[in-house]
Amino acid sequence: MEKALLAAEAVAEQEVVDLLKALVRLPSHYPGPGEAGVVAFLEDYLKERGLRPFRQEVAPGRPNLVADLGEGEGGLLLEGHTDVVTPGDEALWTYPPYAGVVEGGRLYGRGACDMKGGLAALVGALLAVKRALGKPKRPLRLAALADEEGMMLGVKAFLRAGLAQGFRGALVAEPEEMEVCLWQKGALRLRLCFLGRMAHGAMPYAGDNPIPKAARFVLELSGLERRLQEACPHPYLGPPYLTPTHLLASAGEGQLNVIPAQAELALDVRTVPGVDHGKLVQELEALAGVGVEVLEDRPPVETPREDPLVQAAEEALGLLGLPVRLGGVPGATDGTFLRAWAGLPVVVMGPGKKTLPHQVDEWVDLKEVVLAARVYAAMAVLFLG
Ligand SMILES: [Zn+2]
Repeated sequence: MEKALLAAEAVAEQEVVDLLKALVRLPSHYPGPGEAGVVAFLEDYLKERGLRPFRQEVAPGRPNLVADLGEGEGGLLLEGHTDVVTPGDEALWTYPPYAGVVEGGRLYGRGACDMKGGLAALVGALLAVKRALGKPKRPLRLAALADEEGMMLGVKAFLRAGLAQGFRGALVAEPEEMEVCLWQKGALRLRLCFLGRMAHGAMPYAGDNPIPKAARFVLELSGLERRLQEACPHPYLGPPYLTPTHLLASAGEGQLNVIPAQAELALDVRTVPGVDHGKLVQELEALAGVGVEVLEDRPPVETPREDPLVQAAEEALGLLGLPVRLGGVPGATDGTFLRAWAGLPVVVMGPGKKTLPHQVDEWVDLKEVVLAARVYAAMAVLFLG
């Protein structure tokens, strides 16, 4: 308890703020410059402070960065991603997206909230634990991973390389207004192809039009969605959704008198615990009468509240006089795979407003980031014992 408070107090406010500014000033969207600049900076930064970070190349020019404090079994992963999404049209921003402008206690910029704020807080906490305790009995591993905003190649490579092995929990610093998020929605990206036969539009009887087949399926989808929503309501995640996001059927530009040969449909499916992805795909195939191609499968995950990781998070919040608010993550994060593939208990809890990521004029409250670093430092000490 006392040590946890010591670690929290060892967080250096200015250090965290300066680090966050530096991180935001390094663009890391992909396609674009990607994570390399942020990783090079962070690598030097950690080395200068006595740590020995190492890189894991995920794709050409796209490294993960890993740094350990302490060694042995039963440690805690501190996870954040280094990539951000594109700023879009920079003219729409009040402050340039990579200037790191501070105004009224808020730092503005692409990635300020999602999630360089959380990443700076994790690093601040790691350094605070080092200052307060030296080496903890069990290890803390900072995992600054690439491509969370894309196909999550960073966390997948991290897990395939066994870099989560021996750890007993993961703290993911995504912007969740410091809610203790124990549930994360699942996601499926699916593609269906309705086949037909080309023919003259004047003689539809001579062909086989795939467009009505796709349209019928889309309409029937809402019935299945309603049934799922009624069968699996979730207090923290809200309802599951089956959302068509892409429908393409054409015999070519200007070919308005030609029945096309196929109609391609994509679905963005969001699920909650209790929805079996394999069964759902079978149901969709039965409804569609065609095969469903699974492009990406991210299962819904949950961590039990009685897990020591969750207890450490709740205790740390209490120690700093903050309320415990439970929450759910509406999308998947790297934490989804840490839970689903490695079986690690995961708490997603970070500074920043939930709805701000990917918006123009993204910002994060600097006081909240520093407070998050204090909570993380205390939580790490409580968890590691
Ligand atoms: Zn994020």
